[in-house]
Amino acid sequence: MAKLVSVFISAGHRRLIVAVIWAAAFAFVLGLIGIVAARQIGIVMRAEIGSALERFERLDENVRNTFAMLHKDVTAEPCSPAFGSQLRKVAFLPDGLSEFIYAPDGVVRCSISAPRLVAPVALGTPDITADSVAIWLDRDLGFLRLDGLHGTIALSEPFAVVVPKQQIVTPFHPWVELETGLAAPDNSWWHRSGTPGINEHDENRLASGSAWSPLHAGAFVLRQCGRSGLQCVAARARLADILAAEWKRFLVALVGAALVAAWVAAQGSRLIRAYWSLEARFRRHLDAGSIVLAYQPIIHLESGRVSGCEVLARWRDVDDTILFPDAFIGIVERYDLTRRFTSLVAQRAFEELSSLPDQVRLRVNFNIFPRDLDGDTLREIFSIFDQARERFEITLEIVESGAIQADSAQREIEELRRAGIDIYIDDFGAGYSNMANLATLSVDGVKLDRAFALAPDGSLTAQMLVHAVEMIRATGRAMVIEGVETAERLAQLRRWATPLDHAQGYFISRPLAIDRFAAFLADHEPQPASIEATAIAGPGASRIVA
Ligand code: C2E
Ligand code: CA
Ligand code: CA
Repeated sequence: MAKLVSVFISAGHRRLIVAVIWAAAFAFVLGLIGIVAARQIGIVMRAEIGSALERFERLDENVRNTFAMLHKDVTAEPCSPAFGSQLRKVAFLPDGLSEFIYAPDGVVRCSISAPRLVAPVALGTPDITADSVAIWLDRDLGFLRLDGLHGTIALSEPFAVVVPKQQIVTPFHPWVELETGLAAPDNSWWHRSGTPGINEHDENRLASGSAWSPLHAGAFVLRQCGRSGLQCVAARARLADILAAEWKRFLVALVGAALVAAWVAAQGSRLIRAYWSLEARFRRHLDAGSIVLAYQPIIHLESGRVSGCEVLARWRDVDDTILFPDAFIGIVERYDLTRRFTSLVAQRAFEELSSLPDQVRLRVNFNIFPRDLDGDTLREIFSIFDQARERFEITLEIVESGAIQADSAQREIEELRRAGIDIYIDDFGAGYSNMANLATLSVDGVKLDRAFALAPDGSLTAQMLVHAVEMIRATGRAMVIEGVETAERLAQLRRWATPLDHAQGYFISRPLAIDRFAAFLADHEPQPASIEATAIAGPGASRIVA
């Protein structure tokens, strides 16, 4: 899970996800455009088929009307002169049909061109029989004295007509190819004109109604037949031809899809970033399990013994990385999670510290938010330690700020002190706050900002360290000097130490997880200063510095 989640947190992975979103959106939009385009292509092809079919339908109809007329009007003795003139009367109609034949039972006896055949000619088995009309395709018409001509003969007993061959006109769209043919009731196909072979696709695709299904081997194919079901037109549109003819539109679609995809990816990226931002993650997952604590030992300077520790919070991110306070304290404050956060820290610390050996006595320093110095909030949060007061003395460190001066905060500080909790000003000397605070606030101690202890020897800040220490001593308050990183600085501090002075810093120990802190305590038997001040110093082995 942590692995999976880290995919969303790392910037590199997020870029990859955004790229994937872009690609998916691009494919989706292109797909939509494709569906619309396919529908459009289908509409165009149907229109082309329709206009071609219309011409053949008209011919079909003419043939049918002509048969009706022949049956009605040609009543004279077959093949007699009167019969011939009755045939010719029908032939004058402007229907494109001119050769009429008398052929009872498929045996030609006379026609307009051949008024009386010497020997009747049997047409043989028709190529197609549909709707009581028999059809012979592309017959040599020499036997009708029409030498060199070919034509299709349609027979509706006892009359037959020669149907002239019809060519399809060029389609309106250059990328559409058409084929006309006759579809016999037995499903056989007779190519009549246009591009041969289009009809050779499977029936379903040819007749398909939906957008993409007529797509076959890089081309759309469709077929429609006329009312009689005999005259059919098949159409084909090759994708390559469409692209060649419509490349400008295709380009516009491509660019449009890319832009839409970019917009979607940007929105997606924004949502992912918002959902997986540290802020959002922290607010969703802040709970007892996500709080990780480190304990940094604090020593009593005069005796060199460990007197307590400062509890420092870390936060376990959803991908299991451990974040330091500078990453999340601001979020805690911004979203008013201070009480909840401090309470989670206090509970966690209580659980972990309770696991230390029974004889361990410690002063435990917590960092608190000044804004929580109202009402009984802090009193309630730290009451969890009431049951273990003989083991753990509690100090709350408040960052020195204007907020401390509020009357209500002052009242709360006094309230906490009455409850046996010590209050320290944290980071004293940092920022712009007034040194006079030190004199006016009723606090138990002061934590000197680490900038002083960290300052190189001889620097102005190092000189200020001496004055700051003197100033704090003048108020009779306890003091923790933090940020002690070197043996020299510790030795120097110890030289001037009074019983109220303490120190903390990497030279003494880095902040430690509870098990390592327990090991540290096993090596350096701890003793809170309040006890130390009156007790005789223990054996040298338990001291940080002998
Ligand atoms: P802080 O209260 O000044 O805590 C001391 C910080 O100095 C810690 O940083 C500690 O690791 C670091 N430090 C200790 N010894 C040395 C040293 O010798 N040299 C140097 N250069 N640094 C040293 P950390 O743990 O990153 O904490 C940063 C700040 O976050 C703390 O500053 C404190 O203001 C805040 N914080 C930490 N835990 C909590 C908490 O539970 N609640 C609240 N409200 N704030 C917390
Ligand atoms: Ca602190
Ligand atoms: Ca500090």
